[in-house]
Amino acid sequence: MSYQVLARKWRPREFTDMVGQSHVLKALTSALSQQRLHHAYLFTGTRGVGKTTVARIFAKALNCEEGVSATPCGQCSACFEVDSGRFVDLIEVDAASRTKVEDTRDLLDNVQYLPTRGRYKVYLIDEVHMLSNSSFNALLKTLEEPPAHVMFLLATTDPQKMPVTVLSRCLQFHLKALTPEQIVARLQHILVAEKIAYDDATLPMVAKAANGSLRDALSLLDQAIAHGQGVLKSDDVRDMLGFVEHTSLAGFVAALCQKDVAATMQAIEAMEAFAPDYLAVLDELLSTLHGAAIVQQLPGSHYADNELCKRLADAIDAETLQLYYQIALHGKRDLPLAPSPREGLEMCALRMLVFAPNENSGTAQRPETPAKKPEAATAPVRQPAPVAAPIAVAAKKAEPVSEPASPTTHVELATANPVATTSEAKPEPIVDKGLCALASQWLAWLDAMKVPGLLDNLARHCALVEQQDDVLALAADHQRIEMLNGTRKSELEQALTQQLGRPIRIEIREPIPEGALTPTQLQKEREAAKRAAAEQSLNNDPRLRELLDLTEGRLLTETIRALN
Ligand SMILES: [Zn+2]
Repeated sequence: MSYQVLARKWRPREFTDMVGQSHVLKALTSALSQQRLHHAYLFTGTRGVGKTTVARIFAKALNCEEGVSATPCGQCSACFEVDSGRFVDLIEVDAASRTKVEDTRDLLDNVQYLPTRGRYKVYLIDEVHMLSNSSFNALLKTLEEPPAHVMFLLATTDPQKMPVTVLSRCLQFHLKALTPEQIVARLQHILVAEKIAYDDATLPMVAKAANGSLRDALSLLDQAIAHGQGVLKSDDVRDMLGFVEHTSLAGFVAALCQKDVAATMQAIEAMEAFAPDYLAVLDELLSTLHGAAIVQQLPGSHYADNELCKRLADAIDAETLQLYYQIALHGKRDLPLAPSPREGLEMCALRMLVFAPNENSGTAQRPETPAKKPEAATAPVRQPAPVAAPIAVAAKKAEPVSEPASPTTHVELATANPVATTSEAKPEPIVDKGLCALASQWLAWLDAMKVPGLLDNLARHCALVEQQDDVLALAADHQRIEMLNGTRKSELEQALTQQLGRPIRIEIREPIPEGALTPTQLQKEREAAKRAAAEQSLNNDPRLRELLDLTEGRLLTETIRALN
């Protein structure tokens, strides 16, 4: 007998054979056993999750000679013919290949005639969203007044492309993508029954590549069996699927666990010898980090069998794992932009090692912390900003406030840490007189003084860099200093004198020193921080999550506006 592909050979013939989808099966089973049937069912879900399989079993259940039930006998000629695709009253249409209105009309013209053999005439229309508008209209007419002996079973991967009028006349069931565990279990079952030897490591690889589709998993399994000449070896399967050699990632992960920069670079060097696909390396790394994070929370999970996941889970704390994951994710996004993929991976690895929080001091590990860094310009603002990671707070308490390097450290932790808390946007009272505090102070005065338009605009582009008793030192660029001539300067001094209740003198400096902020810049920073906090809290909102899951929607982050 010729080789029959696994997906066909192992197509479930009863509801109880189905993998997953228990929510759908339960509803259908009880409908069948109580004989409470609708005349049109719509099965939705991604490819290869069992839509047409469910529909065929349903058709069999309706027409079994033993009577309508959730457990068709499988022995009678009706059951047998449905199983072998020869049942005359099961009319299967692939709408992807039959979209013309005449075809559908031909099809529906016969609706009125009683079934030839069975109890019901069952129309199974696959990929129904592909029907043309006029075909849908023809279908709709039938759905509006369906003859009692007719049953429509529609299946689609894309229900959004269907007219609402048709959708509303169908009982809809959504079949979920299968989990890797469900797929692995099914593959195991089949391989044992087929007496095909396999390495344990192969099945998770196939399941992962199948991406939730059992049909894809089975056809990959077919290929792998052919590839390995009847045996499944993990090397062959990895080779076939183009997965990264696990062992090369092992060196990398080991170095990462020890936070050893030199060893990490060596591991990447060793990888280079195999000319790997670095995007795939990052994917593997992401999956490993994901597995490790799960093992930490659920030690009994099957990821614990993966040596690398286990190792990472033991060596690295939960927060850092999250950070690594985030960094790897960004690394993957930026990889095409890097001069070479290897450089992209190296930078990604360095970012993980250098920015990982150090458990002892609560500050970032940095090879050196020079007093002034280019990013210091944005650093101090984040201190009172609403987004502050727990670590950043801890670090702030542990260190003297005036230490020049500390603001830089805080901001990196605050922005890099994905588990930032979102407190309300109330700037805490500022005690120190750093540039950050001066910037906030200056902004507050300007808001309170309400000086005329042009002067206000000018002042908002000056940074308050020093306050000595009654003398305020303002810094600006050359052009603005020119504009802030005698009259405007004294106007500003007058306004400040009135605001502060004592004579104030302004001293002008040029240019704006590093680390200082103008009110305009400060406001921008605050807006950005508020937006980030809003985004974070939306992302953490369980109701929004539920809504997005339900609608398979996506949060358009660019539309988020923080309210004052
Ligand atoms: Zn039967």
